[in-house]
Amino acid sequence: MPRSSTVPGSKVVLITGASSGIGEATARLLAADGHRVVLGARRAGRLAALAESIGAGGGNALPHVLDVTDPAGVRSFVTAAHDRYGRVDVLVNNAGVMPLSRLDALRTDEWDRMIDVNLRGVLHGIAAVLPIMQAQGGGHIVNIASVSGLRVDPTAAVYSATKHAVRALSEGLRQESRELRVTVISPGLTRSELTGSIGDGAVRAAVEGQMGIAIPAAAIGEAVRYAIDQPAGVDVNEIVVRPTAQG
Ligand code: NDP
Repeated sequence: MPRSSTVPGSKVVLITGASSGIGEATARLLAADGHRVVLGARRAGRLAALAESIGAGGGNALPHVLDVTDPAGVRSFVTAAHDRYGRVDVLVNNAGVMPLSRLDALRTDEWDRMIDVNLRGVLHGIAAVLPIMQAQGGGHIVNIASVSGLRVDPTAAVYSATKHAVRALSEGLRQESRELRVTVISPGLTRSELTGSIGDGAVRAAVEGQMGIAIPAAAIGEAVRYAIDQPAGVDVNEIVVRPTAQG
C-alpha cells in the first residue's frame, strides 16, 4: 500500500521526461513510496494515463505538459507544483534525447537538439527550482546523466559532451551550495524508448542490437529512490548503474 501523502518523509518530487522509460518508472516507484510526484513531458496523453494509473493505485500524481527547451515552460511546471503543494523538495532532471551519429554525418540539427534538451533543459530546471529551494532552506536536484558522461564512444561525441557537461555543472552546483543535495545518476544500457530518437538508421540498428543486455528502467528508479531517501545531511553525489554484461 502506498504511504499517505501526509506521512513524515513524503516529498514533492518533480520529474521531467516522465512520460516513458526511466522517468515513468521512477514516478511509479516514488509514488508507491508515498511521495507526491509531478510529471513533466510533452506527450500529454501519456502523462494523463500515468497520473491516472498512479492515482488508481492510491498514489498522488500531478501531470503537467512540459518542453524542457522552453525556460518559461519549465518555470510554469515548477510553479504549478509549488502552487499545488507549497514546496518543491526534489527535481529529477531526466528528460533527454540521444540521436547518435558520427560527427562527419553533419546532423547538426540533432547536435543542437541534444544540447537544447540534455544540457539547456537541465539548466532550465535548475534555474526554475533554485530560488524556491534556497527560500525553503533546502532541496535536492537529481540529474540523470549517462555512462556516456564518463566515457566517449564513436557516434556519441555530442551526446557524451552533453552528459559530461551535466556532470560538470552538477559538481559546480554542489560546491556552491551548503543547503542543496545534488546527485548525478549515470545509467548504462536501460530499456526505454530512447533509441527511438536515433535518426541515423545504421546507428540505430547497431545500438538496438546491443539492447539485449539492457536493465529495466526501474533499476534507475531504485537509484533515485536511494539518493532521495537518505537523511538530509547525507548527499549521495554520484551513482553509476549499468548491466553486469556491459563493457
Ligand atoms: P525515453 O525516450 O523513454 O524517455 C525520455 C523522456 O524525455 C520522455 O519522457 C520524453 O517525453 C522526454 N523528453 C524528450 N524531449 C523532451 C523535451 N523537449 N521536453 C520534455 N521532455 C522531453 O528514454 P530514457 O528513459 O532512457 O531517458 C531518460 C534519461 O536517461 C535521458 O536523459 C537519457 O539520456 C538517460 N539515459 C538513458 C539510458 C538508456 O540506456 N536508456 C542510458 C543512459 C542515460 P516526451 O517525448 O513526451 O516529451
